[in-house]
Amino acid sequence: MMNAAFAELGLDWRYLHLPVPPELFEETVRALPGSGYRGANVTIPHKIAAHELADELTDAAAAIGAVNTLVFEDSGRITGDNTDAGGLIDALGEERPASALVLGAGGAARAAVWALRHMGAEVTIWNRTPERARELAGEFGVGWTERPATTELLVNATSIGLARGDSLEALPLADAGTVVDLVYGREPTELVRWAVRRGARAIDGLEILVRQGARSFERWTGRPAPVDTMRRAVSSPVSSTSARS
Ligand code: NAP
Repeated sequence: MMNAAFAELGLDWRYLHLPVPPELFEETVRALPGSGYRGANVTIPHKIAAHELADELTDAAAAIGAVNTLVFEDSGRITGDNTDAGGLIDALGEERPASALVLGAGGAARAAVWALRHMGAEVTIWNRTPERARELAGEFGVGWTERPATTELLVNATSIGLARGDSLEALPLADAGTVVDLVYGREPTELVRWAVRRGARAIDGLEILVRQGARSFERWTGRPAPVDTMRRAVSSPVSSTSARS
């Protein structure tokens, strides 16, 4: 997806997969600018370490407590951002839901809750382990529930849908006008199929992946991201497999 975007803009840049063990994370990241890197995306299990390492944080990254994008500034400082939140906002487009139900209380849920609250939605969290929903709700000043009701926007930020054979019965699916599934794979997820059957607007995890990636791309290059090119790259069966993290 990123390499397709660089090529589209005629940039002689490369996006490389760099597996790093946790004990080498900091020294590896600090060596990257000297090797010509302009930034990095950071994924599990390094998002909190990246938050701690950054010299400066965006409001989103500071509030969410996790960083998925590092920018190596010309000044030598490292900025940490969380584009998972902005990616969700961009994917919703003009839509400004008054109410939102977030399923899950892990890292993806944290970004979604921050984004939706930032957009002015009244947010409620449900989680399999209710105690974690209560804690997250307390931290962000939103509601939580064990029995969700109808909502304008439903966001699945659990890992249900990731494994073949996952059942939607694990989730309390409330009626919603728009359904976002953060989970993605080669085929549309069960939740996306469920939403489409019900006539809801469905936004799949690949679109969120593209949108968060587009925000990272813009941070690094200072250029508008070619979103359609990125979307096409993740939609091809080979690319969407290799894009999974
Ligand atoms: P995480 O921190 O491990 O959280 C997992 C969440 O799923 C927890 O709330 C957990 O509930 C819940 N869960 C796990 N198994 C469950 C089950 N059998 N029934 C009900 N709930 C269950 O993971 P994460 O980083 O937040 O990621 C969550 C999903 O979002 C992953 O599939 C990831 O790939 C996806 N994601 C997508 C994007 C994108 O760009 N599209 C970005 C980020 C994440 P408990 O608290 O009860 O364990």
